[in-house]
Amino acid sequence: MSVQERTFGEQALAISPHAAGVRLAGVRKSYGDVVAVDGVDLEIEAGEFFTLLGPSGSGKTTTLRVIAGFERPDDGRVELGGVDVTDRPPYLRDVNTVFQDYALFPHMTIADNVAYGLRVKGVGRAERKARVDDVLETMRLPGVGGRKPSQLSGGQRQRVALARALVNQPEVLLLDEPLGALDLKLRQEMQLFLKSLQQELGITFVYVTHDQDEALTMSDRLAVFNLGQIEQLGSPAEVYERPANAFVAGFVGVSNVIERDGSRFAVRPEKIRMTETDTAPTAGSHAEPGRIKGVVYAGMVTRYVVELDRGGELQVVRQNLETSSAEALDAQGRNVILEWRPEHQLELDWEGEREGER
Ligand code: ADP
Ligand code: MG
Repeated sequence: MSVQERTFGEQALAISPHAAGVRLAGVRKSYGDVVAVDGVDLEIEAGEFFTLLGPSGSGKTTTLRVIAGFERPDDGRVELGGVDVTDRPPYLRDVNTVFQDYALFPHMTIADNVAYGLRVKGVGRAERKARVDDVLETMRLPGVGGRKPSQLSGGQRQRVALARALVNQPEVLLLDEPLGALDLKLRQEMQLFLKSLQQELGITFVYVTHDQDEALTMSDRLAVFNLGQIEQLGSPAEVYERPANAFVAGFVGVSNVIERDGSRFAVRPEKIRMTETDTAPTAGSHAEPGRIKGVVYAGMVTRYVVELDRGGELQVVRQNLETSSAEALDAQGRNVILEWRPEHQLELDWEGEREGER
């Protein structure tokens, strides 16, 4: 199919001539007895940075492979830019994938690696060179075209893998844990870089990660996966501040879930005030007495685990404004009062809860 024949959604045109939305309807995929994707409905807008977040084995990669066309769903439909592509092979979808392990050809130069897709499509030598130089420049990799992958750092290799996908000018870029192999500092740098790259290009990114910080930092919206299904879909703030159930509350953020009088709720650690037992209670706040059971000093903050007198335990995080590590650790065993404002008590559904991770 030629570029002219392709149908774009109106929204796609408004964002970037190369962006397309993605729609999954009732997608299922099993491998033998294992149901990897268990009825996923999803609408990703053109130009959106959308993340599939979930624990290992929750069906993120399989969902991505279904979008790319590497897997055919047992049931359901895949649409790109409003067009049903369920029966189309990967090379007839305007989608490229970046994998965690880069999958570069070790014997080829960087320039040949990046040019590979263009060569397969029959793009002429002059245009190939121009587009490869251009994309290497965009990826802040000028001048490395003549080297082999083994002569680059991990971070550079990851950017080559990105260049190799982007040189094909896909409407949708799929990224499967692309930063998983990098150390923390480089990963954080690359998170910012990828986010600004996506905004600059205006194309749709579908990003897979098991790292909640990464998902919260980078995404316009995200879907939380568990056991092949979506537990919640929304903006980072919606998912963090209003988790739909105990699984989401625990996976996105610290699992501060307690049960009271037949209901169940979560309180984020940073929303809890911990005071001495002889301090006057704050008006309008909920107060619970307890005892400090564990202290973890983490430099910037200290995390306390408090066992509540009425049962259950909560984590509290305190900035070490004026506290030394010795003072923090000394709090072990002390009786305290935990206070939080009623609006920070997040009610959780019992309905439809599916326990456990694979
Ligand atoms: P994630 O990317 O979230 O870790 P996956 O989509 O890779 O999850 O896997 C979902 C489930 O499907 C897991 O239980 C996994 O073991 C299984 N699975 C994935 N790919 C295959 C395969 N090719 N053959 C058999 N089982 C698979
Ligand atoms: Mg995976």
